Amino acid sequence: MEIEKHQHHQLHVFFLPLMAQGHIIPAIDMAKLFASRGHRSTIIITPHFLPFLSKSINQNTDSATQIDILTIKIPTYEVSLPEETESIHMATTTEMLSKFFQALPMLGPQIEELIKRHRPDGLIADMFFPWATDVAVKFGIPRFMFHGTCYFSLCASVCMIRYEPHKKVSSEYETFIIPNFPDKIEFTASKVADFYKEDVEPQYLKLFKDMHEDEMRCNGVLVNSFYELEPAYADHYTNVLGIKSWHIGPLFLNSKGMNLEEKRGMECSIDKQVWLKWLDSKRPNSVIYVCFGSMIKFEDKQLMEIAMALEGSGQEFIWVVRKEKQEEWLPEGFEERMEGKGLIIRGWAPQVLILDHEAVGGFVTHCGWNSILEGVCAGLPMVAWPVSGEQFYNEKLVTQILGIGIGVGVNKWSRNEGDFVKSEKLENALRRVMKGEEAEEMRSKAKGFAQMAKRAIEEGGSSYMDLEAFFQELRLVRLSRKISKFC
Ligand code: UDP
Repeated sequence: MEIEKHQHHQLHVFFLPLMAQGHIIPAIDMAKLFASRGHRSTIIITPHFLPFLSKSINQNTDSATQIDILTIKIPTYEVSLPEETESIHMATTTEMLSKFFQALPMLGPQIEELIKRHRPDGLIADMFFPWATDVAVKFGIPRFMFHGTCYFSLCASVCMIRYEPHKKVSSEYETFIIPNFPDKIEFTASKVADFYKEDVEPQYLKLFKDMHEDEMRCNGVLVNSFYELEPAYADHYTNVLGIKSWHIGPLFLNSKGMNLEEKRGMECSIDKQVWLKWLDSKRPNSVIYVCFGSMIKFEDKQLMEIAMALEGSGQEFIWVVRKEKQEEWLPEGFEERMEGKGLIIRGWAPQVLILDHEAVGGFVTHCGWNSILEGVCAGLPMVAWPVSGEQFYNEKLVTQILGIGIGVGVNKWSRNEGDFVKSEKLENALRRVMKGEEAEEMRSKAKGFAQMAKRAIEEGGSSYMDLEAFFQELRLVRLSRKISKFC
């Protein structure tokens, strides 16, 4: 019915996410959301992700028929990468990663071919593809950007690029205030991504500058957040920094209703019966969930500290570790002692479902935006342990602006391995976030945000309405294109 109603005004949108789980997951959620509102979504991706996508898109829903998938090939030969390097995760060294990024602009002609053939009404391309705007312009269609993060971090990144406060301090750890910002946020150069420092990563600095220019010149930015969570920053981004945007999240909540068995496309490393039975046997809010996203690989000595903190705190836990083999990273006899008290998931966990279980009462997170949003929607207080990307900004949002988390005390940005954290720091944070007055206060605030998130995506809610405004914009562009052709 719903789809029929919109048929005449059906829009067709191309989604071009970066080839990494943290980017593809919200892109799939977005594609599903568009389809559920009667539009056609086409996701463009490398063949490596085909099984991932087909698992994510539940073919039994009406809207699944509105989602197509097209493949592109990374020009690996041209940059001397092994042919099978079809995702960021497969670029396992710094050199490979740099080549992978060199290859991305070469995708332009393939995207042009696909646009020529399928004539979509718009292209939503990842922030890592600044060249995509020129491609879209060539065909007279609008190009929108998707960053996959929140307004707070978008504003902070723009301010870093524009004002470069991290270059005006005398040492890495000297604090500065983020300039031209709604709140007084202290930061240090050590927490700024290497990508913004020409002495460390010159080719990435160019890419990030191009991205920010593109942010200004494309047709606008889609943000996986909701207005009530960070109103000052949503307004600041548009009104002060001058970047057009639509807040349409939390995207995963929209799609969750369509597919409750959602595994975010990956095969889970644990049987549902096992974790569910385990959590069902626990009291409400008694378990902390510890997970560091899809990319981070801590060294063994760091894992050892985490294990010691979990044991030392006496806290019940689920801990997701991206390691298959035993066991140099665990204190001797750890698993026997933790029997019944803790569950280690080696590999991929059904994160959204676990966070949503009433026994889970807190979340130790690397502050990837998807994870934070999932934690917010589950109404959980968080221990913020940022590592890379824009995670140090996200930490500030969670701890200082929203007041629903505490920092574990990391001070230095690093690619994937993280700034070393001693067990005592984590142990202390675990206690603070799980029990006592402070924990209850944070939990109650988080639950408030969770309710706001649900309202935002309902018909008439802030995200629902902003998405409608986005569709309206696309329709207008389509109409003006038709008129100009006619004239
Ligand atoms: N995720 C998951 N199971 C895992 C690890 C991660 O389902 O074992 C999902 C998580 O729910 C989130 C995404 O992977 O949706 C990770 O995205 P995020 O932005 O948090 O971090 P990234 O992996 O991009 O650093």
